[in-house]
Amino acid sequence: DFVLDYKKLAPKIPLLPNHKLDQNVNIELTKKVSIYRGDITTLEVDAIVNAANKSLEGGGGVDGAIHRAAGPFLLAENRTLGGCEVGEAKLSGGYQLPAKYVISTVGPRGEKPDFLRNCYKNSLDLLVEKQLHSIAFPCISTGIYGYPLKPAAHVAVMAVRKHLEENFAQIERVIFCLFSETDEEIYQGILQSYFPLN
Ligand code: ADP
Repeated sequence: DFVLDYKKLAPKIPLLPNHKLDQNVNIELTKKVSIYRGDITTLEVDAIVNAANKSLEGGGGVDGAIHRAAGPFLLAENRTLGGCEVGEAKLSGGYQLPAKYVISTVGPRGEKPDFLRNCYKNSLDLLVEKQLHSIAFPCISTGIYGYPLKPAAHVAVMAVRKHLEENFAQIERVIFCLFSETDEEIYQGILQSYFPLN
């Protein structure tokens, strides 16, 4: 009941002209995508993504919230992972979280779309590689790292769209976990151009 179906939230707006895929294929992709406004640490999914820093040893923002909720074993495991470069993704257990795993990724500082795209791509690659099916993303880089919200949302949604097209069978649900009202408005405004509802 935490997960709001994107379908129920989005306004009905016609498709943008750049959709190449068959309409039925589009709708099947849309059914796998949700937005949820609130705390990512409450989500019971296979993996939640952490907007971490290179040390993987915790920090402020969503990183701090995830470490507090997961408990100290997350930090202990992360210390064995050898850090994480910008755009990479690393897997840990979920420990006291309702999520089974944490995927830590390090976003770029500032507006660097190639790096941000890699965060989403490598997180989803890891999900598929570990045979997991559901994932929730925070708005990577848009807090302390200062990536402007709307450009970041476009990169996030496009990267997910592309990955869902390529790994349709295995990925069951992708949740964009939005913490601020502004992010919710931005995602509601742009999702329909990547994941049409009709
Ligand atoms: P970064 O350093 O990558 O910018 P931040 O944690 O500062 O990471 O911010 C990333 C996003 O996570 C922001 O949109 C922020 O509002 C959001 N956020 C903060 N706490 C939580 C939380 N508990 N659950 C989900 N999102 C959160």
